[in-house]
Amino acid sequence: MCRHAAWLGSPRPLTSLICEPEHGLLRQSYAPRLQRYGTVNADGFGMGWYDPAHTEPVRYRRAVPVWTDANLPALARVARSRCLLAAVRSATVGMPVEETATAPFTDGRWLLSHNGRVTRDAVRDLADDLPGAAESSCDSAWLAAAVFSRRRSGLPLGEALAEVVAHAGAKAPEARLNLLACDGASLAATVWGDTLFLHHDDRPGGGVLVASEPLDERPGWQAVPERSLLLASSGGVHVQPL
Ligand code: GLN
Repeated sequence: MCRHAAWLGSPRPLTSLICEPEHGLLRQSYAPRLQRYGTVNADGFGMGWYDPAHTEPVRYRRAVPVWTDANLPALARVARSRCLLAAVRSATVGMPVEETATAPFTDGRWLLSHNGRVTRDAVRDLADDLPGAAESSCDSAWLAAAVFSRRRSGLPLGEALAEVVAHAGAKAPEARLNLLACDGASLAATVWGDTLFLHHDDRPGGGVLVASEPLDERPGWQAVPERSLLLASSGGVHVQPL
């Protein structure tokens, strides 16, 4: 399944998630180390970041393997932000390979990625405006629409993710629902069926790094427990059971 990663902390370029670390998303696209489902993540990639001059995040997505985009390394070096999110995709069988099926999905200031799979029947009731609100027929786009409908009703990021995962997980016990989302000032992630790791450096200039699998060999990477919700903001990092 897909691999995703996010950063919240002092400003960094997107390359710090993708090309720079030894096991960044570029490497994870063809040689992931802990992937439980699928072997490569070559069905597309995407990244999102926040520019201080704009309210909404900037997003760049392609439906090609990340290593084939010759323009990406330079773009990822200058796309800097306190809050970053990126993903590489291994499409679930039966799902379309197209840009609109590729994370990050976005609505307002929120960016969202999904690592896993779920039947659309388990998601259908989670938003009144489905399927119309989903950008693609891909399961991840349906989950994103369900999360975003909660954003519009005023739910905070973590609660929106937790509610969607709890409902979809109850309807489809075999579903894998690792979601990763951010809003420019906070991050939230669920662990439901696949791996997720956290690296927290609270020294000045540091921040919180969250990734499906460690991006490098530094000490300090911690596995986030199965069936939990991770919340990170300037107030710190909290992990709670789902
Ligand atoms: N099911 C989603 C898709 O098809 C996510 C796949 C994944 O996690 N590899 O894109």
